[in-house]
Amino acid sequence: MPLSEFDLIERYFRSCGVRREDVELGVGDDAAVLECPPGQRLVAAMDTLVEGVHFPRGCPASSVGHRALAVNLSDLAAMGARPAWALLALTLPEADEAWLAEFASGFAELARLHEVALVGGDTTRGPLCVTVQILGHISGPALLRSGGQPGDALFVSGTPGDAAAGLALEQGRLPAPAQAEYLRERFLYPTPRVALGSVLREYASACIDVSDGLLGDAGKMGAASGCGADIAYADLPVSQPLVEAVGPERARELALTGGDDYELCFSVRPGNLERLLTQLPPQRWGYTRIGTLRATPGVGVVRDGEPMAFAHAGYEHFVRGS
Ligand code: ADP
Ligand code: MG
Repeated sequence: MPLSEFDLIERYFRSCGVRREDVELGVGDDAAVLECPPGQRLVAAMDTLVEGVHFPRGCPASSVGHRALAVNLSDLAAMGARPAWALLALTLPEADEAWLAEFASGFAELARLHEVALVGGDTTRGPLCVTVQILGHISGPALLRSGGQPGDALFVSGTPGDAAAGLALEQGRLPAPAQAEYLRERFLYPTPRVALGSVLREYASACIDVSDGLLGDAGKMGAASGCGADIAYADLPVSQPLVEAVGPERARELALTGGDDYELCFSVRPGNLERLLTQLPPQRWGYTRIGTLRATPGVGVVRDGEPMAFAHAGYEHFVRGS
């Protein structure tokens, strides 16, 4: 017998993620009732994943569940906020129980890791599309895109480019090398840098999460801050598996222009650098200096003292051919 909408919600989404004291009312009524800690501000973000646009058809359901939450957690991370609650709008072609169980477990596993409770949502029939709204809170000022100044040092977390290679593998556009599994995992199960974002509030002048390619997103942060950036090609952190899979040149190109990394790109005033580097050791926190903000707009990549040119800066939904 096909699963009713009510049963589907009861079975897979009534207790998904953690149980939180601050959820006065979760899934089941017309709306959720949530208690924000006194003196803190609510921070909200929303992101949609469309099948065939944000993930290939036939992607593992657990990955779709994981990524739907991860991309939202990444947005809160970039603000330095602490995640608390999520809402899930799920559009499904059919109530496939095996798919739903896997989707819910992918979502729940990451939700538990970040102590997020699923408190509501909506379920409809149609082409596969997943929207998550994340709610969190912050005490004190949030980390904005707009706080950078010329002369600030520019950093990125992790090893961008891996996810783009992982997606190419997933789509069969790249022959599978020995490192295929690591790269596929970086696309299918990205790690939102929530803890890093939270501690960076004490050190960073500006921050953005890298979802559409480092070059483009560093450019957005620069533009919001009223400046540009110089990135040193030689300093780009690329993973060994990526270099072995696509070679050193293509690896750095993917690090600059590939999407789906969900790393953090941030700037730090020169006066805060020493404190950052001693109190948050880069090896332990997994970040690398890649350049410096400058007064002139745009992002330049410098290699052996020469500026480099790139065909495109990152993913752009409404530009033909991207
Ligand atoms: P309504 O018709 O009043 O919008 P629904 O039947 O859509 O109610 O939803 C019933 C309850 O289930 C609500 O609390 C809603 O937030 C929750 N809900 C619906 N779909 C989901 C979902 N995919 N994930 C989590 N909660 C859901
Ligand atoms: Mg509804």
